[in-house]
Order: sequence, then C-alpha cells, then structure tokens
Amino acid sequence: MPCSTTPDPPNHRPDPSPNNDALPRGSTGAGSAAVVYETHLHTTLCRHATGDLSEYADHALARGLAGITVTCHCPMPDGHSAHVRMAEDEFNTYLAMVADTRDAYAGRLDVRLGLECDYFPGYESYVENLLWRADFDFVLGSVHPHLPEYRDAYWMGDPTAFKHGYFEHLAQAAETGLFDSLAHPDLVKNMVRDTWNAQGVVPAITGYLDRIAHAGVCMELNTSGLYKAVPEMNPGPAILRAMQVRGIPVTVGADAHRPERVGDRFEDAYDQLAAAGYECVSLFQGRERYRVSIDACRASLTGVAEAQANKADGLQAHRA
Ligand SMILES: [Zn+2]
Ligand SMILES: [Zn+2]
Repeated sequence: MPCSTTPDPPNHRPDPSPNNDALPRGSTGAGSAAVVYETHLHTTLCRHATGDLSEYADHALARGLAGITVTCHCPMPDGHSAHVRMAEDEFNTYLAMVADTRDAYAGRLDVRLGLECDYFPGYESYVENLLWRADFDFVLGSVHPHLPEYRDAYWMGDPTAFKHGYFEHLAQAAETGLFDSLAHPDLVKNMVRDTWNAQGVVPAITGYLDRIAHAGVCMELNTSGLYKAVPEMNPGPAILRAMQVRGIPVTVGADAHRPERVGDRFEDAYDQLAAAGYECVSLFQGRERYRVSIDACRASLTGVAEAQANKADGLQAHRA
C-alpha cells in the first residue's frame, strides 16, 4: 500500500471509515504540503516543561509542521510521581488550554488533544476513566522506569531482571488496548547503561515485541533520547529494525519540554526509519491511525538550521 496520506486499515479498532481529507494539507511556504505533526510535547502543567503552548505552536509553524498533538503527562492518583505531572484538579485546565490554542491557531496549525499516560500495573482503570473524560486524538502509553515509585516497586538490584521487567510492562501496556503508541520504548537503557548492549538486547526482547505487534499498537521513535545518558533515540537502531520486521508502525515525537524542541531532529529520525526499512510514519486523529510517507515528511520540513543549532547547544535531559 502506498503511504502518502492514505489511511491504513485500522489496527485493532472497529472500522472507522476514515476520510483521506481528514488530514490538513497546509503549505510550508517551500512548495511542499505540510504533513508533519509533532506528536509528543508537554505543557507547564507537568512542572518540568517551560514555555507557553502558543510558543510551541509558533515553533511548529517555523518548522513547517501541519500540526501539533499536545501530550502532557496525565494526572495519577495517590500522589504517584506528582512532581512531574499535572494534578487531578488541573485536568480540565489542560483540556481548556489545548482547546484555546486550537481555536487561536485555526486555519494555520492543526492543534490536537493528546495525553501521555503512565502504564503502571494497578492503575489501568484510573487511566481508562481519564480517557473517557475527553475526545482525545492520540494517547501515548509510557513506562517511566526512572520514577521513584517505579524503582521502589521493581528495582531489585539486578539490571537484567529490571530490563526484562520494563519490556514486560511495555507489552502489558500494549495489551491493555488503552494506548495508541508506546512512548520512548527503550527508555530503560539509561537506567542500565553499564550493561546495555544495543545489539544483544534484541534476541532477549523478541517475545515482548511479538506481543506488541500482535496487539496492533504503534511504538514511538523519540528524538529526546539523543540528549540522555545513552545518547541515541528511543528506541535505538537495532530495536527499530526488529520493530520493522514485525510490522509495528511508528509515530515520531521530539518529546518537547520547551518550544524550541518541537520537531527537533526529525530529519535524523527519518534517516533512522529509512535505514530500518520503514517508508511511512504514522499519526493519529480521533484515535484513528493515518500514514504519511517519509519522503513527504522530509520535503515539508523547514528551519533545519535552527534545529541543528539546538543540537549544538546541548539540551537538558527530559525528566519524565
Ligand atoms: Zn515520557
Ligand atoms: Zn516529561
């Protein structure tokens, strides 16, 4: 099937009869249709991001993007890692913030409602109820192994066991059916850096990847990994190739916690995807998946020099 903006058959969802024209096709000013979305970005509500949402939108326009899907960290009950997420009573503020930005940029930039939800065993029903409270376009499912609650529950002093537990949780997240894409899906490498073997890990996690492929859930290629302890995207090339072999679709996100990172290193992400054998990236609107060709994405981006300047600056590692 050609990529273009042709919608895929739905993964595991009922046939939504998607409309090809649902995707906006703005102009980048460079002659190529704007097709790229930043599908992972945050707001100040999560307490570790900076900048007004309008600044993120403005940077997206400067990069030639068609839209942004705001995916801030979801609230969690019981004070669970409350220092890196919006409070429960801020959830409506979040919805209003995204809606106001959508209205302010109507006709210029497509602003979509998403959420980055933690997968933590025992909280599935809480997340499910949260997702009923608004019409989300896109939901990321994340395992954050560096958070204190996760470490307290699952770090037993054995890096190999911890790594397996992390990928087991990713597979469980996929099997909940709650999420469209699994965010930064080898984040654990930064916790087990000394024993991480990028090539060697693939045979150890094939069972987990098979389960994710069977669940029909996407995985994310997250460019913020370039600025972390193991300085490569999440996932790295070996896992990305193993995903491609299994037909796991990929969403691309910068995980921007400041406006200047919107669309950051997307050109490099497309290079890695192409090297792994991918021809398309996926994105979601109304929880339905669409595909866009990597070539179209690449042709529509602008502001590359600025993105490279970001690279030279060195960026603060993302905390959650
Ligand atoms: Zn995350
Ligand atoms: Zn974060």
